[in-house]
Amino acid sequence: MSILNFEHLGKIISISDDAKRLLEGPEKEISFRLDLRLDRGLICFDSHAVFFNAARGPAKGGIRFAPDVTLEETRVLAELMVYKTALAGIPFGGGKSAICFDPSQYTRGEIDSIVKEYVHMLRDEICTGAYIPAPDMGSGAHEMAIIYGETHNPESVTGKPVEVGGLPGRREATGRGVATVAIAAAGELLSKPIEKTRVAVQGFGNVGSWACRFLSEAGAKVVAVADITGGAYNEDGIDIQNLSQYRQEAGTLAGYGDTSITNEQLLASDVDILIPAACGHVLTGENADQVRAGMIVEGANAPTTKEADEILHTKGIPVLPDILANSGGVIASYVEWRRAKSGSITKIEETYETIDTLILESLESVTKLAKAERASYREAALALAVGHVIKAMEARGWI
Ligand code: NAD
Repeated sequence: MSILNFEHLGKIISISDDAKRLLEGPEKEISFRLDLRLDRGLICFDSHAVFFNAARGPAKGGIRFAPDVTLEETRVLAELMVYKTALAGIPFGGGKSAICFDPSQYTRGEIDSIVKEYVHMLRDEICTGAYIPAPDMGSGAHEMAIIYGETHNPESVTGKPVEVGGLPGRREATGRGVATVAIAAAGELLSKPIEKTRVAVQGFGNVGSWACRFLSEAGAKVVAVADITGGAYNEDGIDIQNLSQYRQEAGTLAGYGDTSITNEQLLASDVDILIPAACGHVLTGENADQVRAGMIVEGANAPTTKEADEILHTKGIPVLPDILANSGGVIASYVEWRRAKSGSITKIEETYETIDTLILESLESVTKLAKAERASYREAALALAVGHVIKAMEARGWI
C-alpha cells in the first residue's frame, strides 16, 4: 500500500510500530463522480481525492486531469507529497486529486464548469483549507483561478495566474528546481561543470520545457527532447526557444529538426543527465538496463519503478528522486500561500532564491546521509522526510 520500504528505512531511522500504522496508508480518501449536463449532453467523470497525512500541515498537492488516472495512482502521488513537503521543510502535509478526463477534448467553458463542480464536491476540504490544490498534469493556472473564484479565498489554492494573486515565478518553479538540482548534482556526482554536460529530457510540458530552458541558459547542451507527440535529437544541442515556438505552432514535436528520437531511444540515450519529466513509471524493470545516462534527475512524479530503481542502483547510476528534484513547485506554492496570508508582495527573484536555497539545502542533507549510510538518494531523502513526519506526529500526540 505505501511507497515506503520500512525494512530498508528502518536501517537508517527508527520507526515505531505505531508510526508505521499511521504511515502505511492515507488518513482519508474519496472517490466520487462529477456529473454535469453540458450542451453536448450528460458527462460523468470518475474523480478521486486522497489526503494522505496532515501531521505537518494542510494536505498540499496538485489536481491531475487524465483519462486513465486511478485511485491507486492518486494515492501514490498524495503520499509523495507528504514526503516532498517534509523534505523541503515547508508546513504542509500531502494530498492529491484527480479527474478522469482528457481536457484536450473539452472547450475552456466546459472545463470551467467541470472545475466548478469539482470544487463543489470537495468544498469541505478546499473551503476549510484542509486541502490546498495546485496544478498537475493537464491542469494549469487558469483552472486554479476558477477554484479561487469559487472559494473567494486566495489561500485556498496555489498556482494561480499572477494577475489574480499568483506568484511571479510559480509557473516555472518546478522546472527551475529540477535544473538547480541537475546543475549542483552534475558538479558533485559527475564532477562536471554544467557547461560540459549533455542532457535528455522526456516531457515538454510545464516541468520539462522550463527545465530545458534553465539548463540551456546555464550552458548545458540539451541534445534530446521527446513528448507524447514525438521527439527531436541534435548532437550540437537543441535551441529550446525555437523548439517551444515549433511545438506551439505545429502542435507537435514530430518533424522538428533533422533527426527524430522515440521516447524509448531517449530514455536509453548516451547523455550525462536524463530527466524524465512526463508521466510515471517510464523507467521499468524492462528498460532500466538500457539506461546509459550518468545520472537521473526525476522531474516527473514516480517515473522510476521499484524494479528499475534496483537495476539503476546496481549499475551505479545515481537517481535524484522526485521528492527532492521536483519540489520547486511546492516550495513556490508555499511562498504563494504565505503571501496570500500576509498580503505582502513577492518579487520573482525572491521566488527563485527560496526555491534554490531550500532545494540545495535538501540536496546537501540527502547526499550527506546517502554517503554516510551507503544508501540510495531516494532512501536517504525518504528517511529524512519520514523522520520529520514522525516528529510532527509525536508533537501532536498521535504516537
Ligand atoms: P504537463 O501536462 O504540462 O506536461 C506533460 C508532458 O508529458 C507533455 O509534454 C506530454 O506530451 C508528456 N507526456 C504525457 N504522456 C506521455 C507519454 N506517454 N510519453 C511521453 N511523453 C508524455 O505536465 P507537467 O505539469 O509538466 O507534469 C509532468 C510531470 O511532473 C508529472 O509527473 C507531474 O506529476 C510532475 N510534477 C509537476 C509539477 C508542476 O508544478 N507542474 C510539480 C511536481 C511534479
